[in-house]
Amino acid sequence: MATVLVLLDHAETGALRGSVLELATAARDLADGGEVHGLWVGDEPVDPALPVLGRHGVAVVHQVSTGAVDARLTPVLAEVLADAVRETGATVLLALSTFENKEAAARLAVATGAGVVTDAAAVERDAEGRVVASKTVLAGTWTTRCAVRTGLAVVLLKAGAVVSRHVDEEAPLAPELRTRALAVSERATRAALVRRTPAAPSDRPDLSSADVVVVGGRGTEGDFAPIEALADEVGGAVGSTRVATDEGWIGHETQIGQTGVTVSPRLYIGAGVSGAVHHRGGMQASGTIVAINPDPEAPIFEIADYGIVGDLFTVLPQVTEELRRLRQG
Ligand SMILES: Cc1cc2nc3c(=O)[nH]c(=O)nc-3n(C[C@H](O)[C@H](O)[C@H](O)COP(=O)(O)OP(=O)(O)OC[C@H]3O[C@@H](n4cnc5c(N)ncnc54)[C@H](O)[C@@H]3O)c2cc1C
Repeated sequence: MATVLVLLDHAETGALRGSVLELATAARDLADGGEVHGLWVGDEPVDPALPVLGRHGVAVVHQVSTGAVDARLTPVLAEVLADAVRETGATVLLALSTFENKEAAARLAVATGAGVVTDAAAVERDAEGRVVASKTVLAGTWTTRCAVRTGLAVVLLKAGAVVSRHVDEEAPLAPELRTRALAVSERATRAALVRRTPAAPSDRPDLSSADVVVVGGRGTEGDFAPIEALADEVGGAVGSTRVATDEGWIGHETQIGQTGVTVSPRLYIGAGVSGAVHHRGGMQASGTIVAINPDPEAPIFEIADYGIVGDLFTVLPQVTEELRRLRQG
């Protein structure tokens, strides 16, 4: 039996990030009869989220306030995590594999000696009861299984790695809410958040957790309209290659790959993307890969499940139109 702690990432509105519930499911499997606790960092109202967390098996939610200190600073978050691990006696900590969480986890590992696996695509216990996480490394050329051998295992799971399951509908838990304030060290606040500028609101799903991602590369020559039209038709997110972001055709936050976002959607559609190794590292774990490229020798065809040898400006509008027709009719 183990207490498994889940970091409950949420928006400023208090809305839980969807993939957090996937973590709760993974946590139940790892708890082995023990309890799943959630860690809610910040003063946003947690009450509306409690019923859904209860349906996903979270027994206790710890709401930790850092007062005027911004907990989005990773040194601050790392101290909150260390405190929560001490408070709960958790032997496993699960969080989403975001840039911020990876940095906080690294700091936590230095402070506690915990073993950390980031970008995990799956996690389980082996026959010896160790926490074992799977992940691809070296730009997707190897799949590894990493057993954590320290007393505290910290695993950061990629969005979509686990299919979230409710506990028995008849017996949802009523999570106990424990609130406390934490005074973080002066050392953790040497950097301060000076200004935040919210990105323009978008109806599209978050790139890192979207079920469908439509990606444009150099082949778009800067015209992302056909990419965006297909993404909107299928309710997907728009991604890009580094060439497209470096050219200033689209924002850097859309870049997928080794130095960008890692995605693992059920469906990846890449148009005008060559499939360079640095890009593949960020999308190779996608469920089904569709590539559209006029060059039959393009490396992306080596990993594509479906390949269309053609011009994206001809193919994408036809695909979008056909999907629209099927949806309407
Ligand atoms: C340290 C390092 C880190 C990097 N990190 C990343 C990263 O995180 N993400 C990333 O993406 N890259 C990264 N790169 C860059 C990477 O190596 C490639 O240069 C980049 O991925 C190529 O982008 P691309 O596929 O858009 O362009 P290209 O490789 O130039 O390919 C363009 C493709 O478009 C096709 N095309 C042309 N016209 C059309 C058309 N009309 N319709 C359809 N297809 C067409 C061409 O046939 C070609 O295959 C990194 C590089 C380095 C050195």
